[in-house]
Amino acid sequence: MADDQRTDDEQHDTKRDGNAAAGDLGMLFPFEVTTMRVTCDGCGAEGVVGETMAYITAIGTVIRCPSCNAVLIRVMQARGVYRYDMRGVRHFAVGGR
Ligand SMILES: [Zn+2]
Repeated sequence: MADDQRTDDEQHDTKRDGNAAAGDLGMLFPFEVTTMRVTCDGCGAEGVVGETMAYITAIGTVIRCPSCNAVLIRVMQARGVYRYDMRGVRHFAVGGR
């Protein structure tokens, strides 16, 4: 059973773009998050959330920098509690342009 579950999780660890993470982030930010700009703390690259890489798993979502592959945002959920780890983001930028 445990082995089956692990295989299942791995199969569902699918790579998508950041638009797939809009639901998780939307709980935190009251606007269209896919157009929010994020700057990677690792390489300094700036891009919109919708163009990042999102890996959706059974236990959460990992958003990676498309430039250096560093983890920007990690969203973990357990028993209805969402936990956001954003240490990979230097800053968020909203508005303008
Ligand atoms: Zn980066």
